Amino acid sequence: MANSFKEASVEEINQVMQRSYAAFGIYRKKSIEEKSTFLDAIAQEIEALGDALLQKASEETNLPIGRLTGERARTTGQLRMFATMLREGSWIEATIDTAQPDRAPLPKPDLRKMLIPLGPVVVFGASNFPFAYSTAGGDTASALAGGCPVVVKAHPAHAKTSEMVYEAIKKAIAICHMPADVFQHVHGTSFESGKALVQAPHTAAVGFTGSTAGGKALFEYSAQRENPIPVFSEMGSINPVIFLQDALQKNTAELAVQYAGSITLGMGQFCTNPGLMLAVESPALHEFLEHLSAGIKAVQPAKMLHAGIHTAYQKKSNAALKQDGVSLVEQAEATAHDIEALPIIAKVSGETFLQNPLLHEEVFGPYSLLVSCRDEQELIAVLKSVSGQLTTTIMGTEKDLTDHPELIDLLPSIAGRILFNGVPTGVEVCASMVHGGPSPATTDSRFTAVGINAVKRWVRPVCYQNWPDSQLPQALQNANPLGIWRMVDNVWKK
Ligand code: NAP
Repeated sequence: MANSFKEASVEEINQVMQRSYAAFGIYRKKSIEEKSTFLDAIAQEIEALGDALLQKASEETNLPIGRLTGERARTTGQLRMFATMLREGSWIEATIDTAQPDRAPLPKPDLRKMLIPLGPVVVFGASNFPFAYSTAGGDTASALAGGCPVVVKAHPAHAKTSEMVYEAIKKAIAICHMPADVFQHVHGTSFESGKALVQAPHTAAVGFTGSTAGGKALFEYSAQRENPIPVFSEMGSINPVIFLQDALQKNTAELAVQYAGSITLGMGQFCTNPGLMLAVESPALHEFLEHLSAGIKAVQPAKMLHAGIHTAYQKKSNAALKQDGVSLVEQAEATAHDIEALPIIAKVSGETFLQNPLLHEEVFGPYSLLVSCRDEQELIAVLKSVSGQLTTTIMGTEKDLTDHPELIDLLPSIAGRILFNGVPTGVEVCASMVHGGPSPATTDSRFTAVGINAVKRWVRPVCYQNWPDSQLPQALQNANPLGIWRMVDNVWKK
């Protein structure tokens, strides 16, 4: 995916990371108010780019202006959310255990813990979110909030959009008197540049959203370092949806309309796209499939994000359809041009699915495979056979929930977010969101890439033992000058 920007050499990348490290020394000492104001200023400068930014992103990604307008609002909203989080302060997990000098048999020391930034963070822009998970997206906003400088590798599919956002960030840097290298931007269309960014001695952590192959490669580059660093890759997910009997019988048509919409939303180019549907064979399931087919048939094709993603969609959907026992249920009727995708619904038995690992792989795009199971036990076996997921969904009634305790019990071990009667597409940005999940959905299931807790990926705990009060960071001083919530001798206090 070539573009007109100069590819950064390994030497240049090492220099970029060195400058980032130098900026870290200054940035981490900035006050809460200075960092919050900086995040707010980035949001404001992005908004100031106006429609020109939306036009450029639409040209580069084929995404409609309406979708991009919403994504820009999410992006500026995320930046402001992290600014608010900093001002509120409890995210830093200040925890104090005061000394007990008279404790027998040994005195207890004074111990005070808080989170501190890791250092320079490398962010790989995502192709499917040119704003919200790219240059000034969630990874960047959370890392800057955590006190880490950021180096973004622009996604080659929207490099000009990325440059525009970079210009906005540079303005915010100047307005807020931040070190110039607190945010840097590099281009690269070869794996060498990505590898160099992960392996540069000053890189402290990595954030990535994209393919399983890419995410795993970055993780392996880190493992090859003398001192491996955390790599937070958010990769493929097929987001199993389980349609239970009572709901299927009662709401056949409504469920089909809901899912035709979710499978084809944004031409299926969401990591939360429902790529796998599970149900026990029944007349209601047949009826559901008929309604779903009607919905899929009517969808107009639209261009995918870039030629590479379109080629991968064609290749992977064709490969799945060629497997023994897989049948095509429906494909949209229109003629597709250029890099347009046609939505596809395929069907397979539980038995065949269990025997064929290729069918467990993500087909990134408007594709979903229905696994029709003999009975509940086979459905449970199918669910157990799929690897870690970002989401899993139950479409059911209260009766269904009562009827299937074993199945319901299994759900938390599958995914980071468990939905009841909804669609997995559409990720709310808020404190309770978990956008993560067991491997291979991500490289570390303990964290989320969306919501304020995304900051926890870029910080680590440090404990001060017996330090004089005046020398402690403000968050840990006796007088609590920041006025934040802290756990003091096992009691929450402000
Ligand atoms: P990608 O191929 O994973 O690339 C994303 C970024 O990572 C690019 O900057 C790419 O650099 C870099 N990269 C990938 N593999 C690398 C490696 N081995 N070493 C160093 N850098 C590497 O993702 P994409 O271009 O967005 O789309 C390709 C496929 O990814 C899609 O067809 C889809 O299957 C999947 N995808 C999944 C999600 C999801 O959320 N599940 C989101 C987007 C895409 P280069 O540009 O130099 O290759």
